[in-house]
Order: sequence, then structure tokens, then C-alpha cells
Amino acid sequence: MPTCQLGGQNASQPFIPAKTHINGGWWLGCNHCGTRYESYGRNRDEYTDTDISLDLVINGRVVYCSADCMIGHEAEVASRNAKFEEFKVRAGEARADVTFTEFTGG
Ligand SMILES: [Zn+2]
Repeated sequence: MPTCQLGGQNASQPFIPAKTHINGGWWLGCNHCGTRYESYGRNRDEYTDTDISLDLVINGRVVYCSADCMIGHEAEVASRNAKFEEFKVRAGEARADVTFTEFTGG
């Protein structure tokens, strides 16, 4: 997870609502795919020299380039959490095995 690249001179603040970044003309990066876009929800197409309109989703302090990206990100997080739960179960089983071995070995 990259750190916030938008802190700049306001880094001393706990966080700045994404909307402020946009209104202030900051560059933003999608929290999911990393696509960068410019202020006011537009991105510049370097090839055609036109603005690309983006369907930005602002969710607290993070921004997604579209609702699809937000859903995709949340799905990834859910998957990661599920794997962690699985790991905890396995770690618990392994520990139980060790305890059992020690007990019978004594
Ligand atoms: Zn995105």
C-alpha cells in the first residue's frame, strides 16, 4: 500500500478529505488501481489532448476512479481478511499439535 503522496505542506494535518485535494488542484491516485487523475475529476489524455471524464468515488479519505474500482478494492480486502482468518485457524491447529506432542512425549 503506497503512502499518501498528497500530504505535501499539509502533511501535519491528520488527513485531508479527498474533496479538498480535488478542489485544490491536487493529483490523486485511485486507491485500487493507482490510476492518477487531475483536479475536478478530470484526467488529461496525452494522446488526444482532451480531458477524460472520470466517475470518481470519494470514500472518506480515499478515492477510486469508479464504483467498480471501489468494489474491486473491497473484494480484495475481504479476500485478504478471509485468508488471514484461515491462517489464524491453521496457526492455532499447529500450536495445538505442538502442545499435544510435548504432552505425550513427556
Ligand atoms: Zn481505479
